[in-house]
Amino acid sequence: MSITSIQNNLSLESKRIFGLLLRKGAMTKGQLAKLSGLKLTTLNRVILPLEELGLIIRTMVGKSTGGRKPVLYDVNPQKYNVVGIDISRLYTQVVLTNLKMETLAKFRFDMNQDSSPETTLKRIQDWLETVLKKTGDGCVLGIGIGTVGPLDRRDGIILNPENFEAKGWENIPLKSIFEEKTGLPVIMDNGANAAVLAETYYGIGKGIRNVMYLNCGVGIRTGVISSGAFVRTVNDTEDTFAHMVIDVNGKACRCGNRGCLERYASIHSIREEFLVAIKKGKTSRIKKPVEQISYLDICQAAEENDPLARQVMQKAAMLMGTGLANFIQLLNPGIVVLSGPLIYASKLFYEECVQTAMKKSYGNKGNHIAFSRGGSFVENAISIGSAALVVERYLLKKAMGSNE
Ligand SMILES: [Zn+2]
Repeated sequence: MSITSIQNNLSLESKRIFGLLLRKGAMTKGQLAKLSGLKLTTLNRVILPLEELGLIIRTMVGKSTGGRKPVLYDVNPQKYNVVGIDISRLYTQVVLTNLKMETLAKFRFDMNQDSSPETTLKRIQDWLETVLKKTGDGCVLGIGIGTVGPLDRRDGIILNPENFEAKGWENIPLKSIFEEKTGLPVIMDNGANAAVLAETYYGIGKGIRNVMYLNCGVGIRTGVISSGAFVRTVNDTEDTFAHMVIDVNGKACRCGNRGCLERYASIHSIREEFLVAIKKGKTSRIKKPVEQISYLDICQAAEENDPLARQVMQKAAMLMGTGLANFIQLLNPGIVVLSGPLIYASKLFYEECVQTAMKKSYGNKGNHIAFSRGGSFVENAISIGSAALVVERYLLKKAMGSNE
């Protein structure tokens, strides 16, 4: 069954009950009635289409408090699946998940100077074709794409992102390309929004009101859910935080300003800072020709106490932590998830950044905020969150607040 016909068969109340089960887990009819405020007779009517469509099932029997054991209702993990695609600058990852956002299959490859839109999309489509053949008609409800902004979110077009190694990533109508190839509905958002969605409702941010997600890599990508809604930016860019000015007379940035955070705390900036120091005569234990030194070499050397690498990483992390403290003050998150290649490659960067952010947070010094390195989904957050976009848009929209 297609997602639009499922959608047409569901009232707002049915969607709300489905959303409660999805977000809070299996529960009895009594618990559902209490949470939703619906009378049992209404609840029976609202549950019926969800069961008929196979969206929910009666599952294992709950704990008995004497007498007959109550039945638990749960989201059906077996009937329908969703596809999530994460197109980033360093890699692309595609997942097939069930409605509980559990991964059933995964495909990942690196992005390099040969990863033009044509070859990248061809690889994704080939994998999808095999997967969709296996799962059969009507089981996959839709495709979510999380990618690098700026975007035209409504029409599903990548506009003019910076720093893809391969040429040609401008004005790519991803939505219509995938819709045409698969016949499935496609929804697109920036990758950081997809990731914060995954962590908020299916991961470490469950039950926390404001969740902040930062992905540190080629750029600094941020996604925030505040009181149940995305904090959106113009053109759905995800790099507004990256262009927070932290030094009024600082280095010139590609955006036209000076002293943007990205010029100090991204992969390229850290490498640049390190290479400049070497060229000025500073020494390091990294035994490679200067031009071959990668950010990974610098991260590793810093972990191994190379003084120059440590100094460069610490400075970058201190500046990142300062920007983060500003961001925290504005948006008041309950949890901050730090993710991305730089965070995974350097424990030092992560720890220094968190310490600075806490120290510089106004008020109670950030003590009320939890920090997480990688969240629940680590490098899978964007792809799983992209799959979650489909469920949010088609099965929960309006019923569970304003996320879409
Ligand atoms: Zn800038």
